[in-house]
Parts: sequence; structure tokens; C-alpha cells
Amino acid sequence: MLCMTTTPLSPADGLRGLCGGRVHLPGDPGYDAARTPWNLAVDQRPAAVAVPHSADEVGEVVRAAVAAGLRVAPQSSGHGAGPLGEQALDDVVLVRVHELTGVTVDPDARTARVLGGTLWQEVVAAAAPHGLAAMHGSSPDVSVAGYLLGGGLSFYGRRHGVAANSLRAVELVAADGSVVRASAEENPDLFWAVRGGGGNFGVAVAFEIDLLPYPDVYAGMLLWDRERAPEVMRAWAAWTRDVPESVTTSFRVMSFPPLPDLPPFLSGRQLVVVDGAVLEDDDRAAELLTPLRELQPEMDTFGRIPAVGLTGVHMDPPTPVPAVSDHTVLADLPEEAITAYLGEIGPGTTTSLLFGELRHLGGALGRPAEGGGVASHLDGEYALFAVAVAPFPEAAAQGRADAAALCAALAPWSTGSLVLNFTETDVDPAPMYGDRWERLRSARAAADPAGVFVGHHPVG
Ligand SMILES: Cc1cc2nc3c(=O)[nH]c(=O)nc-3n(C[C@H](O)[C@H](O)[C@H](O)COP(=O)(O)OP(=O)(O)OC[C@H]3O[C@@H](n4cnc5c(N)ncnc54)[C@H](O)[C@@H]3O)c2cc1C
Repeated sequence: MLCMTTTPLSPADGLRGLCGGRVHLPGDPGYDAARTPWNLAVDQRPAAVAVPHSADEVGEVVRAAVAAGLRVAPQSSGHGAGPLGEQALDDVVLVRVHELTGVTVDPDARTARVLGGTLWQEVVAAAAPHGLAAMHGSSPDVSVAGYLLGGGLSFYGRRHGVAANSLRAVELVAADGSVVRASAEENPDLFWAVRGGGGNFGVAVAFEIDLLPYPDVYAGMLLWDRERAPEVMRAWAAWTRDVPESVTTSFRVMSFPPLPDLPPFLSGRQLVVVDGAVLEDDDRAAELLTPLRELQPEMDTFGRIPAVGLTGVHMDPPTPVPAVSDHTVLADLPEEAITAYLGEIGPGTTTSLLFGELRHLGGALGRPAEGGGVASHLDGEYALFAVAVAPFPEAAAQGRADAAALCAALAPWSTGSLVLNFTETDVDPAPMYGDRWERLRSARAAADPAGVFVGHHPVG
């Protein structure tokens, strides 16, 4: 007797053929490449990965996923994939919109329409010929979507606030596959929620954003050997207490392995770096930087550059990287906190961390914006972001431990809040939102009552 066995069909099999065949299931030849995010340390294994090229294709995928009893996780570049990778995704279709890209600038209105998977570098390049800039973060290849839906911390931030405040409208594919527009006038509760509430409300397929009138900026970095960390950190901490809102900078102690791909000033070096932007004329900017320049940095690149160059000053990696991290927000940086930081990562210590970064908050970042969304401002004075490169599991474990130890050492000065964009582990998201959490949960229940959408920080 002939005995035949068949593999039972997965619920996601019904999605095959959508998106012109760009739907990949486990076992398919394209599955591993399609599920690999920018953060190569994240091993996300969804029921299927779909790569739509249009809002219509996103709608088809969402409808088919819901009909098959599956949930939907939107993703663009995968920079923020960490928390999603820690969740069980076997009933989830990952909708990767990184091929749904494009920017149209309206120079008179000083706005841009940006498609859902576009990277910031594309926006910046489209705005620059019109003498305009955008509220991007430190990295050119982070996507507009995850960054803006998570709030967005920019080197324009202390003057112009949280980047999500620059959103005028967003178009989302909802759980029934239709496109819903949210703005101050249309679906205002949804508009409030998406400006910081992450990917819990639908798949964003287009954004309308305000642009800034900066053809050029005074920006750059100052660099010293790590031996100078104590005096530079004390000077930066004192300086950031007094600088005007036109100044947004970060402070990092960094350790680079000896790698031939790195420039000699970085390869095998342990360094202190202060970088960012000063939105002033050249004379005033130079005057403001004097206390740091008096510490005679080994390298000083601060000067006037085209605004398009601001995505380069932080030296973020130009290609995907395996990384792990930890994060906390500090209310202050007194002498005891500086000592605690240096005890983990300063001269004479051994650490697996690539860097322990402090972003200066405050100014417009700290003030609720009129008509703003759920993340229209950030509590605290400094955001600490500790990152290690993690090419294999043991390195990831050591990196997580060292990042956690740095955050723990600074815990006495923590506000207890979190910046969503810098929270790369699957933690309780409520502290990110404080007293806005219940309103955010209600907005989620109204927009997605069946819980179809899976944000990397679930609101539920
Ligand atoms: C090197 C580096 C530098 C960074 N610099 C900064 C910085 O300067 N300032 C700052 O604020 N943050 C910064 N970040 C953090 C970054 O903003 C977050 O990781 C953000 O989530 C990345 O967005 P993404 O779309 O590129 O990533 P993704 O991993 O694709 O998206 C993250 C989440 O956003 C949601 N999402 C993404 N796309 C969509 C969509 N189309 N529709 C609906 N939801 C969507 C989903 O919930 C998704 O899980 C940095 C991160 C890295 C790795």
C-alpha cells in the first residue's frame, strides 16, 4: 500500500502570490534574507514576511493576514527590531515596507510627503536643494517611520522639539485594509496616538512633515583620547547646564576594535567624543564652543556644513550591524553620576561597550508642544544609551551585561522614564508614557479593537 505524508499548510500559505510574489514563508529560499533586519543581532522568525511596493499591496496583505487569523507587524529598516525579536512571532506577518519609498518636497509650504519605508537620507537629500532640512536623527539610514512614530531625537531637538511634532499627517493601512488619514483635523485621537505610540495603529504608508529653514548648520565633533574623559565629561556636564536651546550635543566614551575598515583615528582607539549642532551664526557658535575647545581636542570638525551633512557628524555605522543595548533617562549629571559613569567605562576600565552615550535633552525637547501627540516632549535632562557590538551570542551576553551595568550605575539619577526610540529590549512600555498611558491604550482599542497590529513596544 502506498503511504503518502503531506506537510500541513501554514495559515500564512494563503498570502503566497501577494505583493507580486514577495511574500516569504519559513523554508522558502527568500525567507532568511527577507526577515533579516538592520540590527543583525536580532533573530526574528515570523509566520511570513511580505515586502509590498504600494499602499494597495499593504492593504491586500493586511486583509489576507486577518482572514487567516494572523497578526501584522510593520517594519521599515529594522533598526529598532530588538524588542520584536524577543516576541513570539509565529502568528505574525512581518510587513517590511523598506521598498515603499519616495519623497516629494513642497518648498513653498516647507513640507514633504514621504512614503512609508523611506530612509532619512532620502528626505534630507530631497530637501537640501530647496535650502531646507528635516528633523532626522543621528543616522542617515534610519527610517522616517519608526523614528517619527517613536518620537524622534534630533540634533535640531533642543530648539525645535521632538521630531514627531513635525508630523502634519500620516496615512495608515488599518486592520480592514483601508487607508486611514490622521491629522489635526482628521481622526485627531489617532493622530495624537501615532506621534509616539509606535507601530500599534496600522502600517504607515505615507507621512506629511514640516521641514526646517536650514540650508547649512554649524556642526561637527570634538575628539580626545579616553584618558581625558574625566575632565571632558565634567566640562560637558557643566556646559550643558548653561548652553542655550540652540545647542544640541551628545557625549560619548567610545572603544573601537582594531579594524582595517575604520579610519586610523578610530581603529583600536578608546576615545571621548562630543558632537552635535549649534544653530547660531559662526561667531556665536564658536563663542559657545569655547569652554570645550579650551580642552584642546585632538580633532575638531565643528564648522559650517551643508545641512545634508548633519547625518554624518555622529559617525553612525553606514551598514547593518549586530548590536545590543540598554537605556535610561537621567534627571541630572552631578559629580557622583560622572564618577559612576567613569567607573564603568572611563580610563582604566575594561568594557565590551562600543559606547556609552549621553544625549542632552531639555530645551524644547522638555516642553509639551501645543497640539502635540503622546510623545510631544521628553522628561529628564540626559538620555543614556549604552551599545555593544554583538556578532555572536557570547558577545551579546557580555554586551547586554555591560550595558545593564552602566545603566544600573546611573540608576540613582534615573527619572524612571524611557525614550521609546532608545529602548531596544522588550520592556513594559508604560514608563515611556507616564500619565498618558491610559489615553494611549484607549486610542489603541479604538483604532485596532481586534489587536491586529504588533508594535515593537506593544500598547494594549
Ligand atoms: C545607529 C542608530 C542610530 C539611531 N539614532 C537615533 C537618533 O538620533 N534619534 C532617535 O530618536 N532614534 C535613533 N535611533 C533609534 C531609532 O529611531 C529607532 O530604532 C527606530 O525605531 C528606527 O525606526 P526604523 O523604522 O528605522 O526601524 P524599524 O525597526 O523598522 O521600526 C521600529 C518599529 O517602528 C514601527 N514601524 C516601523 N515602520 C513602520 C511603518 N511603516 N508603519 C507602522 N509602524 C512602523 C514598528 O513598530 C517597528 O517595529 C537610532 C538607532 C540606531 C540603530
